[in-house]
Amino acid sequence: MRLLFPAILLLVSGVAEAAAPDGAVFVMYHRFGESDYPTTSVTLSQFDAHLALLTSGTYNVLPVSDVIAAMRAGTPLPDRTVAITIDDAFLSVYEQAWPRLRKAGLPFTVFVATQPVDQGTARYMNWDQIRALKAAGVTIGTHTESHLHMTRADDAEIRGELDRSAARFMAELGEVPTLFAYPYGEAGSAVRNLVIKQGFSAAFGQHSGVAYRSGDLYFLPRFPFNEKFSDMAHFRQRVDAMALPVIEVTPADPLVAANPPAFGFTVDASIAGLDRLACYHAEFDAIRVERLSPNRFEIRFPVRTTAIAGSAGSFTSAEKGVWQRLFTDQASGRSATIVSPSRASSSVRSLLPAIIWRSSFTYSAPFSE
Ligand SMILES: [Zn+2]
Repeated sequence: MRLLFPAILLLVSGVAEAAAPDGAVFVMYHRFGESDYPTTSVTLSQFDAHLALLTSGTYNVLPVSDVIAAMRAGTPLPDRTVAITIDDAFLSVYEQAWPRLRKAGLPFTVFVATQPVDQGTARYMNWDQIRALKAAGVTIGTHTESHLHMTRADDAEIRGELDRSAARFMAELGEVPTLFAYPYGEAGSAVRNLVIKQGFSAAFGQHSGVAYRSGDLYFLPRFPFNEKFSDMAHFRQRVDAMALPVIEVTPADPLVAANPPAFGFTVDASIAGLDRLACYHAEFDAIRVERLSPNRFEIRFPVRTTAIAGSAGSFTSAEKGVWQRLFTDQASGRSATIVSPSRASSSVRSLLPAIIWRSSFTYSAPFSE
């Protein structure tokens, strides 16, 4: 079975509403200054610039667990809340990212797959280094044992991965992490339910988007950054993004078999400007959005979707009502969510639901390797 990530981008721009700092932006990194892995690494100068912006006074960088706790409790989050996550426990986290984050005074979470650490994999941290991070206040999260494709595994295999990684964390760190990140960001309802049963407080995908209180805490979006797409205009757009809260998303399971899927959602009644909601797909550019009622929308894919990997995705942003081509992410085959840089006069809310479907098409460019 191959997995395919279609790139669907939904935008709505409109007059900024009074309010509701209702969301949080989770940013995601893998490697730092490892230029031989450009699709998963940022350069050190890019990372320095990101941290300079995050410490400029405009943003509220909180620990992931604080954001999750606030979302669970219904406590308001400050506007421009950002939380930093790093996947895979690469050595460059310890050598490059940590000193910079520590100097900047920014909290962060590292999601660790235990097996590569246990095996002493080249350019991964060892347990002493992970313990040093934890002792300094860095949050350690779980990323399974072997970094498997969870949607391709059966229940027993997944439970084994979760149990064995939990045992390794207990042995090495003295506690089991409460946060989880799906390897490759891949999850479906069955996988999600197993993660919930394991007792985690939240779980992350790696589909672009802004998390919000009424959203799914067990399939949280994150904005990934790599060398190609980490310039400051790109970074600023993402950390300034606002959520588009939706309910009644169909299909309910992001891992679907139908191609194309019958995709629909209902936008929260507090959101204005829905007459300008638009949907973009990496292959087709604009695709038809049918408005069934004031807040209910369904997406009409023109044809069966084909492989994204290798295709030229195009993305568009609504700035002042003018649709503009923005960029193409050929490296990862994934889309990104575009938001208005000037929220004073208008806002663009973005939603990028992760739809992962089983198909015979080749999917060859996992972002997180
Ligand atoms: Zn990973």
